[in-house]
Amino acid sequence: MDPARAFVALVHHPVYDRTGKVVSTALTNLDLHDIARSTRTYGLGGFFVVHPVEAQRELASRILGHWRDEGAELNDFRRMALERVHVVPTLEDAAKAVTDRLRERPQLIATCARPSGTAVRFTGFDCKLPILLVFGTGWGLTEELMATCDARLEPLQGPTDYNHLSVRSACAIVLDRLYGIRQD
Ligand code: SAM
Repeated sequence: MDPARAFVALVHHPVYDRTGKVVSTALTNLDLHDIARSTRTYGLGGFFVVHPVEAQRELASRILGHWRDEGAELNDFRRMALERVHVVPTLEDAAKAVTDRLRERPQLIATCARPSGTAVRFTGFDCKLPILLVFGTGWGLTEELMATCDARLEPLQGPTDYNHLSVRSACAIVLDRLYGIRQD
């Protein structure tokens, strides 16, 4: 699979909170920077920050603006990562942006720590179409949102029953499983 035809979406709504309520989560500065670096490292086409609240999108744009302008001379590596970040209100806006760019609608691939009988395995995962890897925040993407996706990747799983990766860590591991160079 060509990573340039793959994109990441970080969704802040609809996600669950710890009680299972559907909420919107606040933007996390670290998520923006770390996931931007991971998507740049693995050569992805871009990273969409998805937030329905305009004030939160403005905050994301201010953070991006800082590191693209005055912050660039401080740390050009950050600028190189953040220049592929786009801020949109909904997941459908992200899918439309990919469709406009590649003239093909992406397959939406959900990620989740919770197991599912219909999850696709990493092993042998291949997709000729563009893909939009969908990551959640809070306590994860809602089942309703994941049901609108074209597929759901199997959960990352360590040898313990503790499974509470941050979205930043989960994204980096997923990208390495899909696009990492193996020195076998
Ligand atoms: N318990 C939540 C869940 O079921 O996904 C974990 C939420 S975690 C803070 C936020 C996001 O990181 C998830 O929505 C998912 O995109 C990703 N994530 C976290 N752990 C993961 C795992 N083990 N496998 C795949 N994705 C994971």
